Amino acid sequence: MEPFLKQITGHLYRRYGKELSSLTIVFPNRRPAIFFRKYLSEFITAPVWMPRTLTINELMEDLSSLIPADEVTLITTLYEIYKKEKKTGETLDNFYYWGEVMLSDFDDIDKYLVNASDLFKNLSMLKSFEGIFDYLTPEQIEAIRTYWNHFNSEHRSRHKEEFIEVWNIMSVVYNKYRKQLKEQGIGYPGMIFREAAENTELPNGRRYVFAGFNALNKCEHKLFSRLKKNGQAIFFWDYDELYIKDKAYESGLFLRGNIRDFPPETIPGYEFNRLTHTEKHIECIAVPSVTGQAALLPVLLKDIETSSDTAIVLADESLLTAVLSAIPDTISELNITMGYPLHLTPIYSFIDALTDLQRNARKTNSGIWFWHKQVLKLINHQYLRLLYPEKTQQINAAINRDNIIYVNQSMLGDLNKEAPLFISLNDTKELPSYLLLILQAIARHIQGDRHSETAEYLFHTVKGLNRYKDIIEKSRFNLSTESQYRLLMKILKTIRIPFSGEPLKGLQVIGLMETRLLDFNRIILLSANEGTLPKTSVTPSYIPYNLRSGFGLPTIEHQDAIFAYYFYRLLQGAKHCTLIYGTATEATQRLGMSRYLYQLKYDEYFTLHEKQVVFTINTAQKRSISINRDTTTEEKLAVYCNAGNEYLSASALNTFLNCKLRFYFRYISQMNEPDQVTEDIDPATLGNLLHHAMYNIYREAGNKTITAGWINKTAGNTTLLYEAVDQAFHEIFFNNTKNEQTIAGRNIIIREVLIKYLKIILTKDEQYTPFTILSTEEKLIATIPINNKKIKIGGRIDRIDKKENIIRIVDYKTGEVKNKIKTIESLFERGTKRNTIVLQMLLYGWLYNEQFKTSGNPVIPVIYPVRQLIEESFNGKLILDKQEINNFSDIAGIYTQCLTELLTELFDSTQPYTQTDDLTECANCAYTRICRR
Ligand code: SF4
Repeated sequence: MEPFLKQITGHLYRRYGKELSSLTIVFPNRRPAIFFRKYLSEFITAPVWMPRTLTINELMEDLSSLIPADEVTLITTLYEIYKKEKKTGETLDNFYYWGEVMLSDFDDIDKYLVNASDLFKNLSMLKSFEGIFDYLTPEQIEAIRTYWNHFNSEHRSRHKEEFIEVWNIMSVVYNKYRKQLKEQGIGYPGMIFREAAENTELPNGRRYVFAGFNALNKCEHKLFSRLKKNGQAIFFWDYDELYIKDKAYESGLFLRGNIRDFPPETIPGYEFNRLTHTEKHIECIAVPSVTGQAALLPVLLKDIETSSDTAIVLADESLLTAVLSAIPDTISELNITMGYPLHLTPIYSFIDALTDLQRNARKTNSGIWFWHKQVLKLINHQYLRLLYPEKTQQINAAINRDNIIYVNQSMLGDLNKEAPLFISLNDTKELPSYLLLILQAIARHIQGDRHSETAEYLFHTVKGLNRYKDIIEKSRFNLSTESQYRLLMKILKTIRIPFSGEPLKGLQVIGLMETRLLDFNRIILLSANEGTLPKTSVTPSYIPYNLRSGFGLPTIEHQDAIFAYYFYRLLQGAKHCTLIYGTATEATQRLGMSRYLYQLKYDEYFTLHEKQVVFTINTAQKRSISINRDTTTEEKLAVYCNAGNEYLSASALNTFLNCKLRFYFRYISQMNEPDQVTEDIDPATLGNLLHHAMYNIYREAGNKTITAGWINKTAGNTTLLYEAVDQAFHEIFFNNTKNEQTIAGRNIIIREVLIKYLKIILTKDEQYTPFTILSTEEKLIATIPINNKKIKIGGRIDRIDKKENIIRIVDYKTGEVKNKIKTIESLFERGTKRNTIVLQMLLYGWLYNEQFKTSGNPVIPVIYPVRQLIEESFNGKLILDKQEINNFSDIAGIYTQCLTELLTELFDSTQPYTQTDDLTECANCAYTRICRR
């Protein structure tokens, strides 16, 4: 059967012929008018004047003396009045949300012709409702009574008191607001509707055709009644008798009344039974994720040629971008007609990042500084990459590599060439011009179809910015800096991008509300989920449910019936219906099959073919990896022996003992983890900072004997301690970058911790005085022969000191340390129980012994775990089987033997690099993704 709108068009043409132009055709929205003109062109055989087509909003504007005002004007005007009446210092941006709620309430009040003075009466103290609302039904009065009775308790909560405070001024605000708008000749939609409906003068003689309406507000009902009474109205209701005759279907709730009050014109031969008399294939597909629904489109559209007979209907419009990217290239013509919220577009996130940058930019004597996260967000944004594809990457790498927390403007100078972006505004009033210049730079770089969406986004953003600029310039509100930023983002958030294409061609991508009065042979409905279809969230309102119900304002039930109608009407003309819903829980999404799908499932008139999509998720099977040695691996290993320029450290040996494959990745393949800016200091970096700070302190002493007096003086010199720590930060944490970086945030606390650590170490050292520092941070390298190779072993030793003839190898540790071992052999056993620190300390002893061939002088490896140093009895010596190691030479033989065995295995070319069996090793490994562990 032909689409209903085509039936209406044909009927009007046959009935009115050349007189058609005397009619005004009114639709609920704009889209049907385009199809109406198309259908009419198919009927006409001789030239006729096109009838005027209007949306209901346009008709109301025609009949009213008021001009629709934009939302920002409406909210700011309301704010001024509210602020005065409420005597509040609330800022505009704080009010904005509540202003929208209030405006929506006023809109409803007017569209439903409610007496606002009655509605906003404070009836909490009223005993009797007798004779107050004679114009309401007893049920409505009861609803109002119930509400206020509940309110009339002796102990009102703070919440109730606050409500009453606002409620008491609502009537005055409403009246003053309307009066002020009227004086300016502007209004919000409800105000315009009310004025039009109550306008005593109706256009003479003209006939109006109303088609495709469903839930009528009181203004529409009143206007329709007056026009009908004058013989000036013709009605067409798009319905199916299934849900009109059977009151169990909520989809027919409003149309039953409409058909009764405004009987439609009969279209000869047209039967309102397409739901049950058109052969339909309805399939219902469950998809395990919300965004996964769009991923089904290539399959569903595989056999569909470009056709305006097919529509992808979005119950949740935020899926638009996912849908657009999923539409296959075989679909050459596409028409999107829906409003898309600007805040879901990349331009919004770009502006958001720019305002964040400005909010947090700091000016100091050393220049302008930006926080690295805000800089990285911008330089990784698609729009800045569009302007500076290479520079952004270089700066990104430099910030990460040098661990720059605060980025100086000088580093970003190259990114200010197209527009001054990394600057600090002197005044927030400069914000619109600042953003406009940047947007203009982007506009210069986007050309051609590929960027048509961006051009659309830019156009609407610039409009929003100009609007914001206007408000700020004319502002009487004295907005704080923060309020100005927030207001801008709020204004941008209200913008919807009206995508519009050639609606008569190609695959249609359409919002559910836009489908009214249109029929498609095939529909693919996405997000057929409860919570979305219907929306179960209640529109925010100051007016409580009972009062809404009592005064005939729309409630949640109203909303449910409207959605039910959209849904069933959409199915009426379709032969192939694919209804898709998500099943998995995803943030902000309410999921589960829509109640309307359940209704179809259990309805005798329909057969629902249910399917379940199971995505093949690549579950990354664990796999075994083993790298055989070959000439390449052997060549790489050769750098650690003979004339090679690397050495094996204690850490390398421990890695090999932990996992041979990890050793391969790190020391043979030299696969390092990518750099990342770390604001929080990890234990290894904290240890490094401590070593460097101690190095800075003892460097001052040179070769002098360290006395108790010297240590006391040093520990009491706070400036010196801070300098030692700050320099360590500069060298270690800020990687010696030329940029002057400041210690900020949590690092200030870390600095204090380090000062405390220094004092603890110095106190311990004072007990050991007098002694001499032989070296600090000294690199020791020695060789050990293995199969004709000289393997190089090395390490950097925090400190070597000497007291009398005793040499101590000292290593500072920030964490808890176990200094006891059972046997030397246990240090070379695989597994997590091995004492890696003692292995390292003994290796340092071995290195010292090898390098200096000490003739009988005892060499004692000593650990300085800062937290344990507080115990007076703790001397840091290693304990082997309950005995202190007072000279490395005592265990040198067995240690060297174990080390030789380990290195023999490490250099054995027949042994592959295999994975550890101990999964606890993998927990902190950088290569888990490769190993899939
Ligand atoms: S993930 Fe486990 S097996 Fe793989 S390299 Fe790391 S420690 Fe070895």
